[in-house]
Amino acid sequence: MGVKTPMDLVIRGGTIVTVGETYVADVGVQDGKVAQIGGQMSADREIDAAGKLIVPGGVDMHVHLQLAEAQPEGAPPRMSDDFYWGTAGAAAGGITTVGSMTARQPGEPKGLLATLEHAEADALQNSLIDFTLHPIIDDPSPDIIAEIPKLLDAGYSSTKTFMVMHAFDARQNDYVKAFEAAGRNGILPMLHCEDANINHHCEQRFHSEGKSDIRYYADSRPPYAEAIATARGISLARAAGSPLYLVHVSCADALAEARQARAGGQRVYVETRPIYLYLTRDLYEEPDGAKYVGWPPLREKSDIEGIWDGIVNHDVDTLCSDHAPWTLSEKLDPDLSVGSFRPGMANLETLMPMLYSEGVVGGRISLSRWVELTSTNAARLFGMFPQKGTVAVGSDADLVVWDPDLKRVVRGEEMRSRAGYDVFDGYEIQGWPTHTISRGDVVFENGEIVAERGRGKRVIRGPHGPL
Ligand SMILES: [Zn+2]
Repeated sequence: MGVKTPMDLVIRGGTIVTVGETYVADVGVQDGKVAQIGGQMSADREIDAAGKLIVPGGVDMHVHLQLAEAQPEGAPPRMSDDFYWGTAGAAAGGITTVGSMTARQPGEPKGLLATLEHAEADALQNSLIDFTLHPIIDDPSPDIIAEIPKLLDAGYSSTKTFMVMHAFDARQNDYVKAFEAAGRNGILPMLHCEDANINHHCEQRFHSEGKSDIRYYADSRPPYAEAIATARGISLARAAGSPLYLVHVSCADALAEARQARAGGQRVYVETRPIYLYLTRDLYEEPDGAKYVGWPPLREKSDIEGIWDGIVNHDVDTLCSDHAPWTLSEKLDPDLSVGSFRPGMANLETLMPMLYSEGVVGGRISLSRWVELTSTNAARLFGMFPQKGTVAVGSDADLVVWDPDLKRVVRGEEMRSRAGYDVFDGYEIQGWPTHTISRGDVVFENGEIVAERGRGKRVIRGPHGPL
């Protein structure tokens, strides 16, 4: 008998899944890191994972979490989840790292680093799990561009830009300079591709024709507006010599643009989002169709098939939630119409279970590919691998004990998000976490959050990495 190494926590008998490997072994955790895999170990705390999977915690690099601080009087309604409720939903769904889009708050001085510091302070008080932030570039002035090279020293290696806003077209030259500054400094620009002019024109035309209700929403932001913006964004990044990360690609034509650029050797990375895998625009015919509004809109069945092909064939790199929840009454506000519907919905708690259920149980993808899409690829692209995104000695003990047989019906009112409803309400999903572990701490166990608000830390990221 060998000597048993003392650990803080041992997970016994589970099947470890990483990209390329699936094997049964015990996992020993000490001081928040994976300290040993296999061999003799002892610990005060043990988790029996026989018959279950052990996977790296999910890495969701596209969420919109709000600062918990009070808003000024008369401010417009905000999305429902702060860093506490958002990361509670994440932990309950097997996600252990989130990346939140970070915009300058009203009245705050201009500056990417100042905005990031403010948001970090809020997230450190509220987050249950580790997090990072993506600074939104809404004013690519010389001062802001001069700050981009400093992001990496502060532990950030991404930016976010919205081509969907008119401001992008007005200042395209400045945005190319921002891409260039990012590309030269190990930073990955994330880009929302929809053509603002086409969308705006379609919205105006529909309004003038009296077609402003939810049935016209999908046609008010057509797939060709996304495809042409995707092509343009790719060309601008090419001119700038920068990599490019396309957020929430929703349609086959946009994916084809990315595929073509990648075939030519350009560093273009593709994210999609759960709603584009499971829901079609037919839902906008329903009386409560506005609850399914996202930017871009839901598309045709042929687009869903195209995005699934990308999931299977490696044209898609990451699945992220774009978690941006509103309450049902905010989504269904009768004053809203084409051009003003509130985009976004809760998705952190169901992202990994849905892809497991529909992808792995459904026979479309392997366990390894599921881990790659929900964890490993994002950790690599956003400068966090192998600290995050794998199960290996020396990596953070961000681990999920996954019950591959557990079936549960989605009920929004039982979920952590303050939205109170879920777009997948009523879906039966097979495969859920029983334990979510963040840096060695069990934060979610058998249906309950068991961690304290504010235990999450910011991940200090390295440069954007290749896949
Ligand atoms: Zn978003």
